[in-house]
Amino acid sequence: MKVTIFGTGYVGLVTGTCLADMGHHVMCVDIDEQKITNLRNGVIPIYEPGLESLVKTNVANGQLCFTASAEEGVAHAEIQFIAVGTPPDEDGSADLKYVLAVARSIASHMQSHKVIVNKSTVPVGTADKVSALVSQVLAARSSTLGFDVVSNPEFLKEGAAVNDCMKPDRIVIGSQSAHAISVMKELYAPFNRNHDRMIVMDVRSSELTKYAANCMLATKISFMNEMANLAERLGADIEQVRLGIGSDPRIGYHFIYPGCGYGGSCFPKDVQALIQTADSIGFDSAILKAVETINERQKSVLVNRVQQHFGADLHGKTFALWGLSFKPNTDDMREAPARVVMEALWLAGAKVQAFDPEAMEETQRIYGQRADLVLCGTKEAALKDADALIICTEWKNFRAPDFDSLKQTLRHAVIFDGRNLYDPDVVRRYGFTYYAIGRGDSI
Ligand code: NAD
Repeated sequence: MKVTIFGTGYVGLVTGTCLADMGHHVMCVDIDEQKITNLRNGVIPIYEPGLESLVKTNVANGQLCFTASAEEGVAHAEIQFIAVGTPPDEDGSADLKYVLAVARSIASHMQSHKVIVNKSTVPVGTADKVSALVSQVLAARSSTLGFDVVSNPEFLKEGAAVNDCMKPDRIVIGSQSAHAISVMKELYAPFNRNHDRMIVMDVRSSELTKYAANCMLATKISFMNEMANLAERLGADIEQVRLGIGSDPRIGYHFIYPGCGYGGSCFPKDVQALIQTADSIGFDSAILKAVETINERQKSVLVNRVQQHFGADLHGKTFALWGLSFKPNTDDMREAPARVVMEALWLAGAKVQAFDPEAMEETQRIYGQRADLVLCGTKEAALKDADALIICTEWKNFRAPDFDSLKQTLRHAVIFDGRNLYDPDVVRRYGFTYYAIGRGDSI
């Protein structure tokens, strides 16, 4: 089948590439001309395991192509995906300007029936808005062309996006049009061979499903962080508690890790957007508000510890920082806890020597040149002449460091671990003062 995808970010590029790899003919459209030129030259704008080679193979095979021309994209296929950003507006609600701009563009250029598929995360009611806009533009063109608007939220995880897209847990389709549902079933048939992963529902339920999923995951994290803060004050170890509760199959071991807060482009904005949706209909969403408040508080936990240890004024102090991306296996730093940590350290006068396996360029792009930030080529280089080590992201590469040499390199044998990577007994045996999250006697 022929498919067009508007937006070649994490979702659009990965979805387009995976659809192409299954044999569809995919055209990816982006308004960022530099990005399109780069992609045509084999320069992939994001780090995502497995993506680069898949893009290159499918471009070489003629299954995947890129354009900055919306007109060309609209002409290419009946199926038109919208996979552009939906950043938070000033009040936290999802800003639909990019989604509606694509809808307008499709309506302006279409010369035949289109199935418009909304893959961006959008508030309940957005499909209706897209429909109304497309109808309005078609009416202004005196056109009687038909179209369907489908909701097909994306559940991929950054860092495992290709795998998630190739083997989705579920494919949610929100539509009541028999034609659109059959087109979507045919499109996703290659991903559906092992067992039926398709869940077809009405559009509004589909739109809410995406928010409910992300808000549930964010709630799990904030709940565990709340327990970690309690554990710390009660002399308990949250890692023991985690194992104790995870063994209950109703709870499970997944996604119950305490830490220095969640970040990324999705959880913070989606929790805020659902709070806004609730507020806009006069419903006070007490759980979601607490989830957000707890997360904001959690991002300050590490720096509070640093200041308890070294004092509020950190002038003259240097900290090695391991992990900048909001989670491992990505270079995405949107809303990353490491940014809150770094900025708070700078505010208190400290210097940061940072290392991340993938997010160094992104850090440079965000912060530019500054005297209080040194980007280091290895995790070991970041330790040199640093007063202590702070860990913000749980990259595999950080899990088993050489503690002897770490101790010799740091000025003080102190580790602030925002991801509970180490066994406190082992680290203390090496002679470190070890601060982790929710581990009893660590404060
Ligand atoms: P992104 O910011 O990485 O990419 C968006 C792309 O859209 C950019 O390249 C931008 O230039 C392009 N764009 C903007 N306006 C355009 C237009 N008019 N025409 C063509 N291209 C245009 O965003 P993302 O992370 O891929 O997220 C996209 C959507 O998917 C969001 O709603 C997000 O919430 C949702 N989502 C994201 C993830 C994730 O892990 N990143 C997962 C699931 C869902």
